Amino acid sequence: MAAWLGLDLGGTNARAAVVDGAVRMLASSRQPLRDRAPEAVADVLAEAAREALQRAGNPEVQGCGAAVAGQLAGDTGVVVVGPNLGWRDVPLARLLEDRLRLPIRLVNDLRAAAWGELHGGAGRGVADLLVVFVGSGVGSCAIAGGRIVTGASNVAGEFGHIKVAGPEGRRCGCGERGCLEAYAGGHSLSAQLREAVQAGPTALAALCAGELGALHPGHLEQALGLKDPAAAAVFDRAAEMLSLAVANYVTVMNPARLVLGGGVLSNVPSLRAAVVDGVQRFTNANARKAVQVVDAALGDDAGLVGAALLGATSG
Ligand SMILES: [Zn+2]
Repeated sequence: MAAWLGLDLGGTNARAAVVDGAVRMLASSRQPLRDRAPEAVADVLAEAAREALQRAGNPEVQGCGAAVAGQLAGDTGVVVVGPNLGWRDVPLARLLEDRLRLPIRLVNDLRAAAWGELHGGAGRGVADLLVVFVGSGVGSCAIAGGRIVTGASNVAGEFGHIKVAGPEGRRCGCGERGCLEAYAGGHSLSAQLREAVQAGPTALAALCAGELGALHPGHLEQALGLKDPAAAAVFDRAAEMLSLAVANYVTVMNPARLVLGGGVLSNVPSLRAAVVDGVQRFTNANARKAVQVVDAALGDDAGLVGAALLGATSG
């Protein structure tokens, strides 16, 4: 039986799955990362891969891909910047090939998730797809004519770092100012909630029992329910910037479907509703008529499935 192996490297876990030709997950495995050093992480990924393969009955592997958050050096298999693990220039594909004796293709995690949704999830049946995930950051991928749009230096379609504010805008994790992610990403929303508590009276202080470090985007939804003005101010700005940006992205790319996903959109339903509403209000009419807005269907498995399908083929 033909099978494909997908790996997914998160900030705390290594996962592996075996996927068949009908895009069904036959078996999977999850292992906690014990150490952030590249060699140790590659050991854990290989361990997860062997376990998933064993659970699937050790099928013949046709291809293998590994999804990684961060910036990759084209198709060289090198992680240039891996923000979750503090990595710089790690030749992860080679480290995995040494351990698994299989050709491995590294892919960006958002692109892997988009590819998984296209072939096995909410994007099935269309060739022009946009995927927007709002989690700790803002990630996106554009698929046009059935192909991932990559661009001249491999960063096309990623709209988390488009500028939505001028040079005085909020500082982003990428080092620049005024990025969309610096207003609407989960890390930034938590930071803005902490700033709101420090600035004056707000229901957020009681919601986190005075523990600023415990504030997370879910508290934003709770505070909105209490009609808290400070939370509303954070929300209104993030919602406006995100919904305008998504609507503009739809206008530019003219997809048949827009797939929304990520922890922040599921834990802050008001933000998801604002994005859906924004697409109706701000997208140019011709593009608006063509697009259907749907939720991601594969959840945490999208990256694993997509990595398997995008994997380097063996033999
Ligand atoms: Zn940025």
